[in-house]
Amino acid sequence: MNAEIIAVGSELLLGQIANTNAKFISSQLSELGVNVYYHTVVGDNAARLEEVIAVAEGRADIIIFSGGLGPTKDDLTKETIASHLGAELTFDEIALTYIEGFFERLGRPMTENNRKQALVLAGCEVLANHHGMAPGMILEQNGKTYILLPGPPKELEPMFQFEAKPKLASHLTDGAVILSHVMRFYGIGEAELEVAVQHILDTQTNPTVAPLASDGEVTLRITAKVANEQEATALIDAKVAEIQAIVGQFQYGINDDSLASKTVETLLAKNLTIAAAESLTAGLFQSELAEVSGVSGTLVGGVVTYNQQMKTEQLGIAPELFAEYGVVSSECAAAMAQSVRAKFGTNIGVGLTGAAGPDTHGGQPAGTVWIGISVEGQEVQTYKLQLSGMRNTNRLRAVKFTCSYLLR
Ligand code: ATP
Ligand code: MG
Repeated sequence: MNAEIIAVGSELLLGQIANTNAKFISSQLSELGVNVYYHTVVGDNAARLEEVIAVAEGRADIIIFSGGLGPTKDDLTKETIASHLGAELTFDEIALTYIEGFFERLGRPMTENNRKQALVLAGCEVLANHHGMAPGMILEQNGKTYILLPGPPKELEPMFQFEAKPKLASHLTDGAVILSHVMRFYGIGEAELEVAVQHILDTQTNPTVAPLASDGEVTLRITAKVANEQEATALIDAKVAEIQAIVGQFQYGINDDSLASKTVETLLAKNLTIAAAESLTAGLFQSELAEVSGVSGTLVGGVVTYNQQMKTEQLGIAPELFAEYGVVSSECAAAMAQSVRAKFGTNIGVGLTGAAGPDTHGGQPAGTVWIGISVEGQEVQTYKLQLSGMRNTNRLRAVKFTCSYLLR
């Protein structure tokens, strides 16, 4: 099964908005194991829309439309599809009642073009819109599946995820189960990971294994499609074990985990408290942790000591240390970690220092980072990174690496 997404809207072509709907739908379809071969964008023009529909029918099994279901004259998606397929448009009573109720509550008169939004393709399954007025549609005809969705992302995203996707899934599988599992890695590059599991990628059938990289992280999505859930779970578990045997040391989490959420979860489970002294990252490490609810059970606090004087005043680091080793050094990161742990009375202290770039700092080239981790009762550990990104990418990478070291 393969799909094409047709985003309708002249504002997309004019560069006024980005086609985030196609991105969203594509990522959702990947979870169903549906390949998206084409993203098409077309303006609010019936003739050109009809042209791209005909092209899509020649190369896709599932054609998904975004936009143009609204009440105005330029909204012509369903009208064009109806005329192309020779299908009627009929009023959907539920959608009509919903739209009438909406205007009644507002105390505003309902115009004829608003009624138009309740028109659906005859024979379709209606997709409820819980965040707006225009209903979506799913229609089977001539062996093709047509899915029509409204343009606004806050309407399209829940409609696709909760209305269209389950219908599409049961449709695609004829009762089979599709299960998908994401393995999350850090500290290994995409290319390196792919080389390591190349034989698995080359021979994958069921389950399928798909790599994806973003923000310095790499994921593998494993998708199994079989008759029942038990069998699917077994297939996935076996593949996970096979992959872990090769690159397991780089895996930090699964599915919706993030490095920060996993770090907080782990520290809470071990009943450990943490504090951070941040120079390079100026609070970003704590901020990332603080995005996770429940973090107050582990994050006690920290300091931002951006210049040397504050490192001395706030953390008691001797000026001689800077003179001897420099501020971007293993010694400085270690001292920051130990000192902040003592100052805040925590089990763990983290020290972050580095040259974010683009200039050298403390005599070190851009991208040099030292991370110190001091754990109660253990010798302080330091880690060096040599990053090559832009300034803020380097700062975020430093935070992510810190989390990955805390998870070791
Ligand atoms: P409405 O009832 O709001 O008119 P509609 O289904 O007719 O909805 P459009 O008129 O095509 O949809 O688009 C409405 C708005 O939705 C756009 O102004 C834009 O903000 C957003 N939108 C449309 N298409 C996309 C897209 N492909 N990606 C992201 N946002 C989009
Ligand atoms: Mg519109």
